[in-house]
Amino acid sequence: MTAISLGMPSVPLKLADRRRSRKIQVGSVAVGGDAPISVQSMTTTVTADIGATLQQIAELTASGCQIVRVACPSQDDADALATIARKSQIPVIADIHFQPKYVFAAIDAGCAAVRVNPGNIRQFDDKVKEIAKAASEAGTPIRIGVNAGSLDKRLLEKYGKATPEALVESALWECSLFEEHGFRDIKISVKHNDPVVMVNAYRLLAEKCDYPLHLGVTEAGPAFQGTIKSAVAFGALLAEGIGDTIRVSLSAPPAEEVKVGIQILESLNLRQRRLEIVSCPSCGRAQVDVYKLADQVTAGLEGMEVPLRVAVMGCVVNGPGEAREADLGVASGNGKGQIFVKGEVIKTVPESKIVETLIEEALKIAEQMEKEGAASGEPTVSIT
Ligand code: SF4
Repeated sequence: MTAISLGMPSVPLKLADRRRSRKIQVGSVAVGGDAPISVQSMTTTVTADIGATLQQIAELTASGCQIVRVACPSQDDADALATIARKSQIPVIADIHFQPKYVFAAIDAGCAAVRVNPGNIRQFDDKVKEIAKAASEAGTPIRIGVNAGSLDKRLLEKYGKATPEALVESALWECSLFEEHGFRDIKISVKHNDPVVMVNAYRLLAEKCDYPLHLGVTEAGPAFQGTIKSAVAFGALLAEGIGDTIRVSLSAPPAEEVKVGIQILESLNLRQRRLEIVSCPSCGRAQVDVYKLADQVTAGLEGMEVPLRVAVMGCVVNGPGEAREADLGVASGNGKGQIFVKGEVIKTVPESKIVETLIEEALKIAEQMEKEGAASGEPTVSIT
């Protein structure tokens, strides 16, 4: 067999230049400016249950989550923040509603940032001076997190409902209060459950300020619906260069949110793609069970970190073409599978051997890609 040059992928195409935003530092993760768009999520445990919360943070970290937010509705939760912030592998943001005293507790606890909801913190505006001072001294950024469901009453009366203008006015009003005290270590979110309102709100906000933006469709729904809503809304904004950090909200375990967030960024080439399975939808011409084959190959290659594109095709119509374009592929038919590596047929195997052959070849290619990446000085591909 002749040696096949695998090469590293060329610089990926992007849809738009990134909006120019200020850069802030959320613990070890930079947000905004030229920092890579980060993926975040939120724990579902009772924060005061330190063991369970740290366990979930560890699972989130393993799934690729880069920043985690924890709720802080009680004094017991506030008391747990210092230990959680110290032991977490990723920066912890305290999520504060209703009680300004917990903002101070979170800053004192060493949280990487604090999220405040100006719509529902009592007498929040009166406290901004003190919060700005404490946050400034500790170097703690503040996320001004406006939410359609808890919009400031004054703006609700003015606009009648949570319009994009109302969400943006609320956020910028709060920013102006911080700015009066010289505090600009801010990122903003203006979330709504309707992707159209949300997209328009972020577009408006992006025009009016240079703060980094945290994208989110709030209460997006169960996994399927929430994934679609988040993908279309984030996709529309990211395709215009808007968005510095993302959180997918699903009524599902938080690690699922992270997987969706990462996939959205990879799909738009905003993050190095990892394993990509190109499989056909099957049709009346299929000569193999494509769904099963694609599932088996996906399961067999799970966790692969290199940007490997594997084509799993059901017949000889598009099969050889797609299989040739991919790093690795199979075109099936007549009880056999033609195995392609970088466009060349390297062997033909019986149908029963397709999965194991693809996995075997994938591992060889991955190893060679890693070696070539290291030799060329290119960064090894991993999600950090
Ligand atoms: S590759 Fe073949 S089986 Fe798959 S969808 Fe196309 S024509 Fe149908």
